[in-house]
Amino acid sequence: MVSNTKKKKSKIQCDKCTGLCCRYFALPLDTPEDWDDYDDMRWYLCHEDTSVFIEDGDWYLNVKNKCTNLDDSNRCKIYDLRPKICRGYKMDECDFTGSEYDYELHFTSAHQMEEYMKIKFGEKVFDKLKPKKKKTKKKKQKK
Ligand code: SF4
Ligand code: SF4
Repeated sequence: MVSNTKKKKSKIQCDKCTGLCCRYFALPLDTPEDWDDYDDMRWYLCHEDTSVFIEDGDWYLNVKNKCTNLDDSNRCKIYDLRPKICRGYKMDECDFTGSEYDYELHFTSAHQMEEYMKIKFGEKVFDKLKPKKKKTKKKKQKK
């Protein structure tokens, strides 16, 4: 993302772009090991504008949420003070100029994660979450 005051070498690409790189963030996740870990990810995916993906064997949570420093012209309002993660972003591999993502897996809904959990842990994996039916005893009728 270029400054709204200073134009950098990369200005051509950023001038054409709507600030794609400033409209989400992705956080690394611990590699899930058991049902609880996968269920936590299912919970992340219950929220709007989230996805979970695997890239190069590593798991990430992606949250589509625009940075508050992106102005109406798609320029960074705090360019000189922008966080280091923004400074380290590579222009030549950015969301606008780079190639398509090569995800190994990409979950965009809790339902997709449920289906994956069924494959991994068995079709009846969610049965344990269902409330157990109470056993009803038939009352003997008095004669
Ligand atoms: S995605 Fe690329 S072109 Fe678009 S604002 Fe970010 S660095 Fe600039
Ligand atoms: S701080 Fe600036 S460069 Fe970093 S994400 Fe926000 S708008 Fe983009």
